[in-house]
Amino acid sequence: MSHVPANLADAIEWLSSFGAVSEGGVTRLLYSKAWKEAQQSLKEWMDELGFQTYYDSIGNLFGRLSCGNSMSPTILVGSHVDSVTLGGKYDGAYGILAGILALSYLKQQFGEPKVNLEIVSLCEEEGSRFPIACFGSGMMTGVYTFRDIEGLKDSEGTSFESAMKEAGFGFANPEYLRRNDIDRFVELHIEQGPTLEKLQKSIGIVQTIVGQKRFMITVNGESNHAGTTLMKWRKDPLRSAAAMIDDLYNLAEGFDENLVTTVGQLLVEPNVSNVIPNQVVFTVDARHPTEAVLNSYCEQFSSRFMEMAKQKGLNIEIEKWHEVQPVQMDVKLNEMIQDICTNRNIGYHVMNSGAGHDAQLFAGICPTTILFVPSKGGISHSPLEYTSNNELETGLDVLIELLHQLAY
Ligand SMILES: [Zn+2]
Repeated sequence: MSHVPANLADAIEWLSSFGAVSEGGVTRLLYSKAWKEAQQSLKEWMDELGFQTYYDSIGNLFGRLSCGNSMSPTILVGSHVDSVTLGGKYDGAYGILAGILALSYLKQQFGEPKVNLEIVSLCEEEGSRFPIACFGSGMMTGVYTFRDIEGLKDSEGTSFESAMKEAGFGFANPEYLRRNDIDRFVELHIEQGPTLEKLQKSIGIVQTIVGQKRFMITVNGESNHAGTTLMKWRKDPLRSAAAMIDDLYNLAEGFDENLVTTVGQLLVEPNVSNVIPNQVVFTVDARHPTEAVLNSYCEQFSSRFMEMAKQKGLNIEIEKWHEVQPVQMDVKLNEMIQDICTNRNIGYHVMNSGAGHDAQLFAGICPTTILFVPSKGGISHSPLEYTSNNELETGLDVLIELLHQLAY
């Protein structure tokens, strides 16, 4: 191996060289050349550190520190190796590298653990190449099977299956071999939001990963001449969509501050300056940590939209196309992290995660938690993503102490 990372900051730079872009970040899409080189180099590094390394059939990479008894439960720590297009150096990468350094430190200082400790470098989380997200953790936890990737293609028309085979993985066995020894999952991740920085806290302890619902709203009216159609005769879907969007935000602000909603896409037909549009399509993304609150909000805005459309003689369709339930992180693990922070005088904040993570899949099969370190300016999914070395090291220290308490 040409370069062995010396510390966490060095390791972040080293891993970001696989898929580096001139803007300063990384593009490391699932099964790409950069992805494969990153996984293979992580494997070589873990081999050198004396872990038992192996891949599963889809390209999740593991590094195991065995307790000597294969029947013992396994504590798994890690995150995802893929990135979005033009992503940052820390998202996903940090959790894998901190996991490797944590286990390496524990092995050196304390030797063989009482239960198996294992790092995972998950093959995919971002959903950036193919229209499926959290594929690595989804397969491990039985949320997905190989059937879920049938027919999926990337933007260049390459099928999921052929990309996987090209990278050296695929279905040698028609069924993915799921494990039943995973007893805990811990993920260390950058916050990807501004909360910790604003509160000047070093560690975010996640209680809940929020639920999400995404909708496509189609409002149909009547195209007509912008000069000859009097205002009273118009059926203008854009004017109503504007009113709906305003109403959506006002309604959100009347809920508690954890309710967030976004209209990020607006398509106007025919999108011509002197023509009253005939159709407007817009998206709604709504999130909250409590399912009942999220449901109530979505029901309310839907019925208000329908009423507004009816009053203006417009036709409306509301289609929900994506939904994720809120997921609770493990209370006991979070109490342990809280105690570690208190004992070491580390400022922490108990919070929710507004973004999805691999941890939410593992929470379905074992006690799981995710902890955050600050993101400068709250910026993520960008080459500008940044967390200072001190903040990265603090997260690693907490992780080491947590794993020490759990496994020794
Ligand atoms: Zn991530």
